[in-house]
Amino acid sequence: MFSDIPATGFTGNRLDRADEIRRDAGALIAMRARSDARWLVLDKLNPVVRAGETPSILWAYRSDVPHDALSIFLGVDGEAPRFAAAAPADELVADFGGTVMDARQAGALLPAHEAAIVAQARSVIDWHQRHGYCAVCGGKTVLAKAGYARQCEACKAEHFPRVDPVVIMLAVKDGHALIGRGPRFPRRFLSALAGFVEPGESLEEAVRRELFEEAGITTGRVRYLASQPWPFPSSLMIAAFAEAEGFEVRLDEEELEEVRWVTKDEVRAALAGTGDFLAPPPLAIAHTLLKSWVESGED
Ligand SMILES: [Zn+2]
Repeated sequence: MFSDIPATGFTGNRLDRADEIRRDAGALIAMRARSDARWLVLDKLNPVVRAGETPSILWAYRSDVPHDALSIFLGVDGEAPRFAAAAPADELVADFGGTVMDARQAGALLPAHEAAIVAQARSVIDWHQRHGYCAVCGGKTVLAKAGYARQCEACKAEHFPRVDPVVIMLAVKDGHALIGRGPRFPRRFLSALAGFVEPGESLEEAVRRELFEEAGITTGRVRYLASQPWPFPSSLMIAAFAEAEGFEVRLDEEELEEVRWVTKDEVRAALAGTGDFLAPPPLAIAHTLLKSWVESGED
């Protein structure tokens, strides 16, 4: 069996999200005023970091951040409050010394626990920026619960940040796994198949449906491996293996340009960068999925 729970990209956030503070307006004001409060700044959803050999989040002071910037509470690091704000980097104070890093790159280059904070901040801020109006009555909404809700000013309906579950899976059979390439993927790049979970289905059903729709593969038992937040904009990737009943594929050409049954040796070579296809990078849970498969004693 797959004994270890693998660490996946954008996980390992060490902040205490301190939900009790979100609901307490007075406590939140006190948190913002503390001398050890700091802000992660996102410029167009990309983090401002200290560049260099080992980049890290640039934690800005409250006075660095424009007064009217959208600001959310992330949690506490020990005692120290941590927030995130949306602001153009060039509107921060002049000697700020930070640089804007693409969020995907940040996921790969920042320490894992900091990349996880970027994921939290990015998904929540993006949601606020796209949910200015109430889905019930069309009225204006305002930020509530320190950033973990929006409330409609007209009908008082509350709205909460969404997480979109996506299943990502390897169909496996007799020492082979099925991988594929979508039309937007780079040439030679092959990865696990994936798709959004639909309303009214279980994860297992979503895995089986996607494999059947995209590749015509019928699968039986589904085994969960691990999950990963994917903040583009707010997916939760749920990785699984599915036991295929046969090898014959029928391609959905709108979804995929190619599918291929590969052996463990072929995947090992690809993960090492010497294969005849390009494997997903370590940041992506598809990498974890492939690595777990080749390292497991299972077919
Ligand atoms: Zn409303």
